[in-house]
Amino acid sequence: MDKWTGLEQTVKDEIILIYSQKMKVLDGILSNLTKDYCKHSCTQVDNIGCCNYNHYKIGVSDEILEKQVIESNMFTSGKGDYQCKYHSTSSGCQLTEYKPPICVSFLCGSLQKHIRKFDDTLGIQFIDALKDVGKANFFIHGENILATFDFAIEYGLRLEDKIFSPKDL
Ligand code: SF4
Ligand code: SF4
Repeated sequence: MDKWTGLEQTVKDEIILIYSQKMKVLDGILSNLTKDYCKHSCTQVDNIGCCNYNHYKIGVSDEILEKQVIESNMFTSGKGDYQCKYHSTSSGCQLTEYKPPICVSFLCGSLQKHIRKFDDTLGIQFIDALKDVGKANFFIHGENILATFDFAIEYGLRLEDKIFSPKDL
């Protein structure tokens, strides 16, 4: 039996609640750090970026899949297999709290370079921490999935501070 299926529902509910809180923080950081770059510099076609597959279902439990439907307000792009059903060409991903780990953690090579330009050491630490988030899987890691978020949040907040704090107060 995998690490998720055997858990009691109350334990699952608690894990999912904490997951949604941490994901919201991490997604907010990523949004601040990457949204402009992805919007204006992405070389992928049709304004779809890397949301070119139904990544929403990777590594998450059935409970998360149900929460995604509610969070997205039953949004679906209906554009077919080459575009994730939660991707809007005008407003991007419709998920914030129940985004899958693989999505919040993905930075293509050019975006990684862009982030490292702000601060190479912190940038690498953030990128490495995100890679661990990206490997997180409910069925393999169970509640241990939550631990991977903390480092990424810490380095992301430090990077935000570095980029957005007034320099000469
Ligand atoms: S991460 Fe890279 S490929 Fe994905 S949307 Fe941003 S710029 Fe485009
Ligand atoms: S970021 Fe959102 S829209 Fe893009 S693939 Fe992931 S779940 Fe789908």
